[in-house]
Amino acid sequence: MHARKIVVIGAGVIGVTTAHVLRAEGHDVTLLEASPAAASGTSYANGGYLSAAFCAPWAMPGLPKQAWAALFDRQAPFRWRPDGSLSQLRWLRDLWSHCNAADFSTHRQRLIRLALLSRVCLQDVVAQTGVAFDFQSSGVLQLFRQAPSANIMEKRLQELQAFGCDAHWYEPDQVRAMETGLSQSVRIAGGLHVRDDASGDCERFVQELLAWNQARGLHFEPNVQVESLELDTCGERLCAVRSKTQRWQADAFVFATGVDTARLLRPYLRVPIVPVKGYSVTVPLAHSDGAQGAVIDDTSKLAIARLGHRLRLAGMAEVVGHDRHIDTARCQQLVDHYVSLYGPMPEEGRQLWAGLRPMTPDGTPIIGATPIQGLYLNAGHGTYGWTLACGSAQLLADVIAKRPSTLSPNAYALDPARRELV
Ligand SMILES: Cc1cc2nc3c(=O)[nH]c(=O)nc-3n(C[C@H](O)[C@H](O)[C@H](O)COP(=O)(O)OP(=O)(O)OC[C@H]3O[C@@H](n4cnc5c(N)ncnc54)[C@H](O)[C@@H]3O)c2cc1C
Repeated sequence: MHARKIVVIGAGVIGVTTAHVLRAEGHDVTLLEASPAAASGTSYANGGYLSAAFCAPWAMPGLPKQAWAALFDRQAPFRWRPDGSLSQLRWLRDLWSHCNAADFSTHRQRLIRLALLSRVCLQDVVAQTGVAFDFQSSGVLQLFRQAPSANIMEKRLQELQAFGCDAHWYEPDQVRAMETGLSQSVRIAGGLHVRDDASGDCERFVQELLAWNQARGLHFEPNVQVESLELDTCGERLCAVRSKTQRWQADAFVFATGVDTARLLRPYLRVPIVPVKGYSVTVPLAHSDGAQGAVIDDTSKLAIARLGHRLRLAGMAEVVGHDRHIDTARCQQLVDHYVSLYGPMPEEGRQLWAGLRPMTPDGTPIIGATPIQGLYLNAGHGTYGWTLACGSAQLLADVIAKRPSTLSPNAYALDPARRELV
């Protein structure tokens, strides 16, 4: 394969892993980023989970009922505020159309397979580069305060094991032995532990991987906001992208622009990605205190992760447009859920954050070529971008190189009608 000039737009976890793979294949790669630093968008302070087992699309059979109930419950993790845009309404209609058992199963399979590929690719990246990012490989534990039905749990374990996930049911005493900081007063009915899932600091990973690549020839240009595209006279091929003052020409362009992808490409392509807002709270905490590993509370949907000497709480899902305002009451809700499990959490040094998940209606990211030659997408990773990043980068590199891939690229194509089962 001959080396090409490739421009990647967006230096979040998706753009940086994409740039890493393409540069490693010998291409001349330039990475453009609107912000002064990489990972300042949604990749900045996410939940930290690298979890194949918990990947599932939002669009599931019970969602419409849950969403309706959430309209009347200020405390519900899900919140929806119409922003008056046609794209939001169209996206909700498409999301609703996937809320059936068959679509849920198809899309979940795609996510899990991509996550399993990502797990292998991440191991390769770490082995090759030695990047450090508070990686913790002790698994992910889903905590149940009420016992789930034995049949449902049995089916779930069988499904996960069929995918190759090392998933097991833990009795309450086993859960408490693992999470010694759990309050004695909290009722624990058991836990689903996935041993081969993991966690780590996404922002640190992105920064370190970028620095490693810059030292090996990757051109990184921060403070560059791509504003327009330049197509050839037939309107079929992308020749260049432009900021206010500069122009970049290349053989191929990858848009890894997260929640901004739909707006940026609107004049040229319809990309069904809307922002779904979430929050995180990070606090410095000695290793012996509080939660020890990555724990999801099934009742509140709170995600807790240990990132070295910090603890991160993450959760909430709000369809409220591009609003990045930090609602401190929502962050306090995360803290309250944590306190109900582990007891008091220090106030000093707390960092509150809000981020926008780039979400497609069927939950599957969009990875691959588009009807415009030279324009590739790697975006729409929703709730699982950190988990899916390294595999998505590999899949996209395979598409660009026109070589066979471990996964079927059609399953992640832009046009949903072309999406086939993996
Ligand atoms: C609260 C919360 C918790 C989460 N927890 C997890 C988790 O535990 N595990 C997990 O796997 N995932 C998690 N996610 C999801 C994950 O964080 C995202 O899927 C992922 O960060 C998306 O990465 P990205 O690179 O596509 O987007 P971003 O990180 O937003 O990167 C896109 C970049 O493109 C740049 N850009 C946009 N437009 C332009 C332009 N015109 N010109 C130049 N640059 C541009 C932006 O500045 C930005 O830096 C969570 C998300 C949230 C909000």
